Amino acid sequence: MAHVPFHPCPDTTGNSMKINTERLAATFVSLCEIDSPSRQEKSLSDYLKNIFVELGADKIITDNSAAKTGSDTGNLVIKFSHPGLDLEPIFFNCHLDVISPCHAVKVNFRDGLFTSKGETVLGGDDKAGIAILIEAIQYLQDNHQLFGPVEFLFTTCEEIGLLGAKAFNSTDLTAKMGYALDSTGVDVVITEAPAAQEFQATLIGLAAHAGLHPEQGISALQLAAQALVRLNLGRLDSLSTANVGLISGGTATNIIPDRVFLRGEVRSHSNKLLNQYVADIHNVFQDVVDCRPHVQGLTRVPGLEFDFFEQYPRMRLAADAPALHRIRCAAGSLSRKISFIRAGGGSDANILNQSGLNTAILGIGMTDVHSTHESIHLQDMARTVELVISLLTS
Ligand SMILES: [Zn+2]
Repeated sequence: MAHVPFHPCPDTTGNSMKINTERLAATFVSLCEIDSPSRQEKSLSDYLKNIFVELGADKIITDNSAAKTGSDTGNLVIKFSHPGLDLEPIFFNCHLDVISPCHAVKVNFRDGLFTSKGETVLGGDDKAGIAILIEAIQYLQDNHQLFGPVEFLFTTCEEIGLLGAKAFNSTDLTAKMGYALDSTGVDVVITEAPAAQEFQATLIGLAAHAGLHPEQGISALQLAAQALVRLNLGRLDSLSTANVGLISGGTATNIIPDRVFLRGEVRSHSNKLLNQYVADIHNVFQDVVDCRPHVQGLTRVPGLEFDFFEQYPRMRLAADAPALHRIRCAAGSLSRKISFIRAGGGSDANILNQSGLNTAILGIGMTDVHSTHESIHLQDMARTVELVISLLTS
């Protein structure tokens, strides 16, 4: 067990909160029903600006990341700099964009559970997080309760490669520690997430008429199939996974395809294993190509173009990380137990940690994300509102 230095939590009492779940539900539905696919987050961002002006934010900034991300807006930063309590500043992060299909979302609410009507995702990933933050501030203001300095970082283009977070300048925040509200589970904090590399392989064969001159062709598709059969994919070990997610190529049924393009990824909590697995994948593709006789006079046939690059770095918070200490205290003052876990997904938090912001990921109860079955319970959202309020006041 890791040694955790002892930091006493401040003494907090009287934490019986009555969250306005009706208002929380209404806020959440209105956020879900604003279209915000990646690179088109401006409508949602403008909507949030109005809300936070009403709530008395001290500063509202749209950064200049749009030039890098290609979005119609920048990352949105909201600051409550002097809300009364002398606490270490913290930030909360959610992303504005939603995975497809996400146009014209209509929300169903039955027996305390939010879903979409079935044609689209719900968009609780990550609008539940945004609704939770809004309700937390509304609650504190309703109750004339002082809280500590807080900033909200709402990023663009998370779902298409964490582009907003990558283009964000961490000095735009005063806080040095915070929480990304962007995961499944309730009362769960993610302290470790894997690094990921994307790889791209183009297999080069030789085109020929499939009926007239099949002996003159080399099928790039067949080469790809041979490689795919040999690749080690899925869960590779307790720390690592690999996947080929896209394949394209070919032009017609009567033409032997000369180019096939594949894209995939490897994730691992170990950088060493990550590099090894990517190298193994490269070797399999190369071996398949090398096993076929090369065509005389054509040096690249059959051939391979293989490329890989980092999607995001690994994140790993130390047991005594400030963000973890703060949330232990916040949960303790609610007499609540938090689970600290390792997760398999990458998110803005990987990037924020890399840029020096001590960021833990907080589960907000969303379920079956990235699917049209996505759902979230209102009570789970309310439970997270309480935790956020506790973070802001203890
Ligand atoms: Zn998300």
